[in-house]
Amino acid sequence: MVNSSSPELRRRVVVLGTGGTIAGRAASSDDNIGYTAAQVGVADLLGGIEAPDGVTLEAEQVAQVDSKDMSFDVWQQLARRCVHWLAQADVAGVVITHGTDTIEETAFFLHSVLAPSKPVVLTCAMRPATALSPDGPQNVRDAIGVATTQGAQGVTVVCAGVVHGGVDIQKVHTYRLDAFASGDAGPVGYVEEGEVRLVRPWPQGQAVPAAKILEAAAVQWPRVEIVMSHAGASGAVIDALLLHGGAGPLRGLVLATTGNGTLHHALEAAALKARDAGVSVIRATRCSSGRILPKAGDPLRDAGALTPVKARIALMLELLG
Ligand code: ASP
Repeated sequence: MVNSSSPELRRRVVVLGTGGTIAGRAASSDDNIGYTAAQVGVADLLGGIEAPDGVTLEAEQVAQVDSKDMSFDVWQQLARRCVHWLAQADVAGVVITHGTDTIEETAFFLHSVLAPSKPVVLTCAMRPATALSPDGPQNVRDAIGVATTQGAQGVTVVCAGVVHGGVDIQKVHTYRLDAFASGDAGPVGYVEEGEVRLVRPWPQGQAVPAAKILEAAAVQWPRVEIVMSHAGASGAVIDALLLHGGAGPLRGLVLATTGNGTLHHALEAAALKARDAGVSVIRATRCSSGRILPKAGDPLRDAGALTPVKARIALMLELLG
């Protein structure tokens, strides 16, 4: 009988580091907020973590950023490294360590361009690595558990023992360790002592044609901005955006609407002017749950259940063709 840890049965999980609080350092172990993110290398984050039986962990530093500063270049590099590793037969899945601030955007981007048949599991922490009781190590261990779960697939995010779908997840709390929610969709499952308890199917999707993003040396990302509708709104921000300044011509506009896709009349008038000038305009609700239910005669299309930040990514990918 072959031992479960014999080389021929070993599987790899590749852990890609991008920075974030999970890799953050503070001057004191009491300090959970006054730290500098993205200081500790991903290999060191794996230091005290025991891999599941028969699994080898491999670390690769793709970036080292505070995720509030996440860039398209890092996304492109991350997508490429996922494609590279997932193509290796012995790689069970990829884990990505990431900051919490934009993890939902990176997860949605990877879901959109990869729709992988193996698991890509993002994870993070709300406390820095130097905290008295950091949450990062358990989150990484849980993410590895998800990546090695039989049948796991798609892009998920694991935090505080909860597995969220990359399409649904949203950061909903500024401080709590369990800082995420999946809105009406609810979580995909829970990680309990390394085992996944699935409550709905693994995420599936259809990747948008990603060749341009994965292969081009430098992608010309179309400029898409988000403008929020609110009491007392005007068309001034849209008018200013149309003048385009130094950031390149405006190609797309996401309107963060009130409620079920509604807009202040002054903002709507400016948005229709932008649309008539050739800008792609889409409405996404600023509500944290629910979707825009379309009505006959809506003058501007809607993004359904996508939040404004995700609608922006979807629109950018659409404009990239
Ligand atoms: N600013 C940090 C980041 O997103 C916050 C965190 O990771 O919790 O990288």
